[in-house]
Amino acid sequence: MREDLQVFDNVLQLIGNTPLIQLNRITQEYQGEFFAKVEAFNPGHSTKDRIALYIIEEAEKKGILKPGDTIIETTSGNTGFSIAMVSIIKGYECILAVSSKSSKDKIDMLRSMGAKVYVCPANVTADDPRSYYQVAKRMHDEIKGSVYINQYFNELNIEAHYKTTGPEIWKQTEGKITHLVACSGTGGTISGTAKYLKEQNPSIRVIGIDAYGSVLKKYHETKEFDAAEIYPYRIEGLGKNLIPTATDFDIIDQFVKVTDEESAHTARQLAKTEGLFVGYTSGAAVQGVKQLAEEGEFDKNSKVVVIFPDHGSRYMSKVFSDDWMTEQGFFDSKHEKTSNRIEF
Ligand code: PMP
Repeated sequence: MREDLQVFDNVLQLIGNTPLIQLNRITQEYQGEFFAKVEAFNPGHSTKDRIALYIIEEAEKKGILKPGDTIIETTSGNTGFSIAMVSIIKGYECILAVSSKSSKDKIDMLRSMGAKVYVCPANVTADDPRSYYQVAKRMHDEIKGSVYINQYFNELNIEAHYKTTGPEIWKQTEGKITHLVACSGTGGTISGTAKYLKEQNPSIRVIGIDAYGSVLKKYHETKEFDAAEIYPYRIEGLGKNLIPTATDFDIIDQFVKVTDEESAHTARQLAKTEGLFVGYTSGAAVQGVKQLAEEGEFDKNSKVVVIFPDHGSRYMSKVFSDDWMTEQGFFDSKHEKTSNRIEF
């Protein structure tokens, strides 16, 4: 902040310190109080701003990054956007290797933020030299002074949330939080936040949200990788077909699996009941809360914090499109079509 005016030096100063907002309607039939940590208030509209800034600043502190150097990652999603944003401000080249499955909108968005985007074939295995993993690795080897963020296997992903998200929630709830509910993708959000919170109060329950089609819940329960758990699903950013080292499985008490369909309806319901236009995984997290409440997880003293990872605008052609919902077969007798359009 400048001292002579009430002006931020640049957009990066707005990262973190996101609000905790009470849920008043969607959870009203359940015992306890429910609060959303709404990460869409970050300037890049997602929780990934925190890790992009933290990992890049740690590399600067260690002298690994100098102005003009290159930052590399394999993502078309929120992390790519956040890295591109931080790179622009700090004067780094940003290279993102993405899968050809990524939508044109997403690729255009990353290029608009100054990133160099390499589109790699989706239908090859991870060890194929054309895959986005191998392309990123090769560029990291070839470009001197480059940093590979590698969010699924980077301990600093956990540390970013340990240093920021955890302390913020502890302060915002005045230490009264009883449950943390968070989606698990890389696992950085849940692991880092939980680590800080459990150090303050070890009895806080930590619950991870996983997708049907992902291996995380089964791995947590058996410590074995079960490939039979893996099949395609729609929710983006949640669950995984490998075991990320950015997940501290020991700190998570329980995983809950949610479906694509229920999570999509819950995301739409959040907009219509709470006025919160948030992403697909925010819907997934609240869907998990509903299932936990039905199982009797909460009582009248519960203070449940649910992390909402990103903004709804990234899902206009998916969850918030009636056509997409219809194509998926998500409108059925249980879920009436609640059209966003006014029919004349
Ligand atoms: N929701 C969305 C939309 C995401 O992009 C991610 C990140 N993959 C997550 C949830 C999960 O967060 P994390 O990677 O920290 O587990």
